[in-house]
Amino acid sequence: MERKHTLSQELFRRAEQVLPGGVNSPVRSGRSVGVTPFFVKSAAGCRLEDEDGNVYIDYVGSWGPLIAGHAHPEVVEAVRQAATRGTSYGIPCRLEVEMAEKVVSMVPSMDMVRMVNSGTEATMSAIRLARGYTGRPKLIKFDGCYHGHSDCLLVKGGSGLLTLGIPGSPGVPDEIVSHTVSLPYNDLDAVETAFRKMGDQIACVIVEPVAGNMGTVPPAPGFLEGLRRLCDTHGALLIFDEVITGFRLAPGGAQQRFGVLPDLTCLGKIIGGGLPVGAYGGRRKIMEHIAPTGNVYQAGTLSGNPLAMAAGLAMLNILSRPGVYETLEERAAYLEAGLARAAEEAGVPVTLNRVGSMGCAFFNGEPVRDFQSALQSNTEAYGIYFREMLARGVYLAPSQFECFFVGLAHDREALDETIAAAGEALQVVKNA
Ligand code: PMP
Repeated sequence: MERKHTLSQELFRRAEQVLPGGVNSPVRSGRSVGVTPFFVKSAAGCRLEDEDGNVYIDYVGSWGPLIAGHAHPEVVEAVRQAATRGTSYGIPCRLEVEMAEKVVSMVPSMDMVRMVNSGTEATMSAIRLARGYTGRPKLIKFDGCYHGHSDCLLVKGGSGLLTLGIPGSPGVPDEIVSHTVSLPYNDLDAVETAFRKMGDQIACVIVEPVAGNMGTVPPAPGFLEGLRRLCDTHGALLIFDEVITGFRLAPGGAQQRFGVLPDLTCLGKIIGGGLPVGAYGGRRKIMEHIAPTGNVYQAGTLSGNPLAMAAGLAMLNILSRPGVYETLEERAAYLEAGLARAAEEAGVPVTLNRVGSMGCAFFNGEPVRDFQSALQSNTEAYGIYFREMLARGVYLAPSQFECFFVGLAHDREALDETIAAAGEALQVVKNA
C-alpha cells in the first residue's frame, strides 16, 4: 500500500526554517538513509502513528528508553499523578530518595547515585569526578563508542558522528582533546601499551560494556575483565557507560550480565522512562568527592525532577518483575533467528550481532568486533533495507551504526510482521 507523507513533509519544510536541519538531534534527520523524517502524532506499545496516519512497528524506542513500550499505562499514570503535585521544586522530595534507593538496589557496583538530566551530563560528570578523585588529566575511550557530546568525549565517537561522517567536531579545542586517548574497542593490548606509556597520567577508562553506537558490538571474552585489571594495577577508575545497557541487559545492566564491576556507572535512557534523565554513581568513597560532601562540582536546576523520578521509578518497578529479562531474551532471539533466515533465503550477507534485547544487522558478511570492522558494512544496502522496511510499516534506526531495540511490547504478531517484511525488503536489497 502506498503511504502518504503529505503532513510530515509539510511539517519538515516548516521545521527546516526554524530548527537546524529540521531536527533537534542530528541522526533523526534520516540523511544517511535517504529519507526525510516522518513526524509522530502518537505512540502506544510497540507502534508509532505519524501525522498522516501511517503506523509503524518501532525498533528504536526513542533510542532505547522505551523498553516497556510507548505510553505504558503505569508510567503515564505515575507522571500524571506527580504532575498534579507540581512539576519541579528545586527542593528535595521523597521521589528522589525512593529513586536512588531503587537504583542502588539494582545496580551491583553502586552505593550512591547522583541524578542528572541526560546521558551526556552523566558521562561528563563521571569523567570530572574521576579526574578530581585521581588528580590525573587523561582518559581512555574506545573508537566508535559514543558517550554523549561533551567536548573531551567527541573523539572518534560513533553514533551520529559516524553516521554523518564527522570525524570530530569544530568548536572543540585541541588542548581539550589532547587528554583523550581513543583506542580500538576489544584491543586489550592497546590499552596495556597506553598504560605502560602514561599510566600515572590516566584518570579513567570509559567504555560501553556492549558497544551500541557503532551498531552492536559485544565485548570480546576477557576484554572487560582486562580493563578492570589494568585500571586496578595503575590506580585508574573504570567507568562503564551503561546509558544503553543499564536495565536493558539485566536488572543490574551489563556489569551484572558479564560479572565485571566498574568504579563508576553512567545511566540514562531507561532510567527516565522516556523523560529526560541521566545518572552516575558508584562506590561511596568516590561519590563523596562530589559537592557538597566533596569539592568536585556538579549541579542541576532540574536534577531529580519529580516527573522524571516518577516515570523512572514506574519503569524500574516494571523491570523488577519476575520473567521480564527472560521475555526480552526470548523475543529478541526469535527476531534474530527470523532475520537470519530471511537474509539467508535472500542470499544477502548480513552479520547479526545481538546481546539480549539490543542488536544490529550489519550489511557485512564478516564478523564485526570493532569500529574498523563495523565500517566495512555496506551502508547503501542498509539504506535500501531501511527504506523498504519503512514502506512496509517497520521503523528501524535511520543509520547502520545504531541498534535495534526489542521491548516488552513487541509481541509475536509484531515480530512475525517484521520478519515477513524483512524477507521482502532483503529481496529488494539483493536485486538492487
Ligand atoms: N552514552 C551512550 C552509550 C549513549 O548511547 C548516549 C546516547 N545515545 C549517551 C551516552 C548520551 O546520552 P544523551 O543523548 O541522553 O545525552
